[in-house]
Amino acid sequence: PHLADYIPDLPTYPNPLRSNPAYSVVKQYFVDMDDTVPQKVVVHKDGPRGVHFRRAGPRQKVGIIVSEEYYWDSLMSYYGFAKIVTSLRQVYFDSDEVHACIVTCGGLCPGLNTVIREIVCGLFHMYGVTQVIGIDGGYRGFYSKNTIPLTPKVVNDIHKRGGTILGTSRGGHDTMKIVDSIQDRGINQVYIIGGDGTQKGAAVIYEECRRRGLKVVIAGIPKTIDNDIPVIDRSFGFDTAVEEAQRAINAAHVEAESAENGLGVVKLMGRYSGFIAMYATLASRDVDCCLIPESPFYLGGEGGLFEYVEKRLKENGHMVIVIAEGAGQELLSQFLQSTNEQDASGNRVLQDVGLWISQSIKDYFKQRKIAMTLKYIDPTYMIRAIPSNAADNVYCTLLAQSCVHGAMAGFTGYTSGLVNGRQTYIPFNRINERQNKVVITDRMWARLLSSTNQPSFLGPKDIIEVRKEEQPPNRLLDGENGKDDKP
Ligand code: ATP
Ligand code: MG
Repeated sequence: PHLADYIPDLPTYPNPLRSNPAYSVVKQYFVDMDDTVPQKVVVHKDGPRGVHFRRAGPRQKVGIIVSEEYYWDSLMSYYGFAKIVTSLRQVYFDSDEVHACIVTCGGLCPGLNTVIREIVCGLFHMYGVTQVIGIDGGYRGFYSKNTIPLTPKVVNDIHKRGGTILGTSRGGHDTMKIVDSIQDRGINQVYIIGGDGTQKGAAVIYEECRRRGLKVVIAGIPKTIDNDIPVIDRSFGFDTAVEEAQRAINAAHVEAESAENGLGVVKLMGRYSGFIAMYATLASRDVDCCLIPESPFYLGGEGGLFEYVEKRLKENGHMVIVIAEGAGQELLSQFLQSTNEQDASGNRVLQDVGLWISQSIKDYFKQRKIAMTLKYIDPTYMIRAIPSNAADNVYCTLLAQSCVHGAMAGFTGYTSGLVNGRQTYIPFNRINERQNKVVITDRMWARLLSSTNQPSFLGPKDIIEVRKEEQPPNRLLDGENGKDDKP
């Protein structure tokens, strides 16, 4: 969406980036007005289809979307997602008029400070904006706390630190009060960094601003260490998390190797999606079994986890298990009294599956009178708190710059994200409609099974069930499930 969709006749200004040194050097510095990036184009009986997103980047002209219907572009041979009607505008904010704010919500993730830094520096250095503030402590900071003035000097070194200099929180989302606060403070660009809950919150803030007819851009940057946000290739912080997880796995391996019948158990992040566990396992080579929420498993009996652990210990003398925090929750609730505990944002509080699985394995071996040593490592909060690595720092920089270009061009109600290797603007509803999950019928999970040599823990009946489940009817149109689970 664009501000001009609901506020006609907004004044426009020449893009100040015309005097940027990069403009004269880069061959095609400005992104074409109607440049789009296909999420995935798939073969369909009526011709190729695919959802397209607007390409991110600096713009000299902005086309205004009036309808979001699919259309067939015979020249390009694809179905586009929007019709573009006008093309004469330029950027929609004068630098002096911009009053931007940044807020971080939800759990910690490596790279938050880098994104903050690059939004501030992008606004200052590229567009000459000087009024940027930070909202203290998540959404509730809009109406209960002071703000933090942000300048390139203030943010200069923050990317070397973990966490977020703005603070964060869960819960406390009152749309009306937040939009009132935006209006009262005269803010006209809101940069919201956070996970699935945060982006849902951003979507309703956008709707409210639109309802009130405010010239306020609401732009999101998706944050999820679990990589569970759909559409985008991967989320920032993921690479750092996989890398840091190696240290925990390595420690578990050293411990396991040093004891007779040594077993190391490492719990990693992944409430609903097992990407971190899967990639950390593939990267490490020391893991004998990886358990994720998407792949059901059972403990006792033939083909169960206990049997596999016993076999591995007999063969190899030691073993490492990686388990994602959301794995086996149904199983766990059969054994432990289930709780309906929720955090301030209404997310279900998960029981500690790592502790439970460790105890269950110990009990099993005790019963069988086999001596063994088990060491349980939970590095999850440690991983969340570290600064981002080089790859994530680069990624955060691109995300932040794209986001700033979009806001200056007057786009709103979007999230910046990498789609098929290109920076794009994704409407909130696309990001919020579902969760990204490891598809265990895809090749990447097969590669993991080959690498660890673990059983699938599925009976033939389960396999048919899983196949059915993993092929949604819109496979052709969305087409994502066919690809490798590349984060
Ligand atoms: P993560 O789960 O990765 O830590 P998150 O953004 O999902 O990040 P939450 O604590 O669930 O973290 O949500 C962050 C903020 O978004 C909270 O302030 C919460 O009140 C708000 N929020 C969550 N869900 C919604 C929703 N459906 N509508 C409006 N606001 C929401
Ligand atoms: Mg969440």
